Amino acid sequence: MTASLIDGKARAARLRAGVADAVAKLRKNEGLRPGLAVVLVGEDPASQVYVTNKVRQTEECGMRSIEHRLPADTRQADLLALVHKLNADQGVDGILVQMPLPAQIDTDEVVLAIDPAKDVDGLHPQNAGRIVLGRSGLVPCTPQGCVILAKEALGGDLTGLDAVVLGRSILVGKPVALLLQNENCTVTMAHSRSRDVEALCRRADLLVAAVGRPEMVRGSWIKPGATVIDVGINRIPAPERGEGKTRLVGDVAFAEAREIAGAITPVPGGVGPMTIACLLANTVVAACRRRKLPVPQM
Ligand code: NAD
Repeated sequence: MTASLIDGKARAARLRAGVADAVAKLRKNEGLRPGLAVVLVGEDPASQVYVTNKVRQTEECGMRSIEHRLPADTRQADLLALVHKLNADQGVDGILVQMPLPAQIDTDEVVLAIDPAKDVDGLHPQNAGRIVLGRSGLVPCTPQGCVILAKEALGGDLTGLDAVVLGRSILVGKPVALLLQNENCTVTMAHSRSRDVEALCRRADLLVAAVGRPEMVRGSWIKPGATVIDVGINRIPAPERGEGKTRLVGDVAFAEAREIAGAITPVPGGVGPMTIACLLANTVVAACRRRKLPVPQM
């Protein structure tokens, strides 16, 4: 069996189109133009690329983008003061502080300072708690993208599936597992201390790999016909492409897995593109909820 590809690029484009449509209606009917503030501290090259993409896509969807680039030696107090200012600014609906932050900054304190109603990254403990309670909050973007892609592959309903989430990080594994539970899956969380991870994976109708280990999940770990969501983004040497060249691979050995699975996300082009699209959607959700407006379908 050759698995069908779950096209994250196409699904993300559709979500962005839905966001743009919702924004156009909010502007026309409510005079509301949602605003997303992005804060970048320092000059980490990967973060700069992410922030540039976020700003561009925010504007393409018709929203207002507010960008703050701060020097790498920014003091904690100054960053907190900026967050408080953005919390108070009625034109700002979403606040994203790009991670990782420089060493002198206490990341937890910064996340705690963000108004949970504007926490479009879904990292504030109040939003994490809402997922645990199964209540609506702002859902972290990459985990949300995983669930959307799983639903895309499985006809929209995940009820009753045996789901295995490999990895238990706060950013990905844990929230994915909780979201899948809220979608009525029977969820197993496997992690670096789990026994016989391979056997656990083989039980999965739906396998989400978020370990950050290149091609760790082999084809033989996958139940025939399973849906595989590969969150991993790992850069490995690719001498076959020339000296010093690299390529991106996921946490799943794609070529092997594709022969066994029913559907699988590629890397790149799977979960990756969903993250910013979900951030844009979260900004619209935050803008509507803050004003007690109905949240549009996107
Ligand atoms: P992390 O390092 O914080 O967590 C890794 C998790 O994997 C841990 O919970 C650990 O217990 C588990 N783990 C490690 N080795 C294991 C093993 N041998 N067996 C079983 N479990 C093991 O990583 P993260 O932030 O969750 O990210 C995971 C991957 O997803 C990375 O490749 C990252 O680049 C990628 N990622 C992609 C996106 C995106 O697509 N937009 C976003 C975030 C992370």
